[in-house]
Amino acid sequence: MIPPGFIQELLSRADIVDVVGRHVQLKKAGINHKGLCPFHGEKSPSFIVSPSRQTYHCFGCGAHGNAVGFLMEHAGLSFPDAVRDRRSSTGWRYRKTTARRPSANAPPRRSSARRR
Ligand SMILES: [Zn+2]
Repeated sequence: MIPPGFIQELLSRADIVDVVGRHVQLKKAGINHKGLCPFHGEKSPSFIVSPSRQTYHCFGCGAHGNAVGFLMEHAGLSFPDAVRDRRSSTGWRYRKTTARRPSANAPPRRSSARRR
């Protein structure tokens, strides 16, 4: 079980711009950051990330949430997974690579590379 206070603490330490920025290309727009919504296809950015509120909001499809919610929605992580992901990136180690799962998008790699 994850104590609720723990989530709050995680969220308060998590920078949503950093979290979302690992998945979506964000541009600074005033006090907020803007990018193409990852939840619906669009060509002009209506996806807003607010560092002051630590939330994201899409004016196109209405997606809305916080850092943990984003990971759950976007990466399809279960809640404990999302928390674990936050933990590993807010904490002591910062992983450079995106938390994308290799199985999700990568085409099956067929190594026609040299065989002996
Ligand atoms: Zn959207």
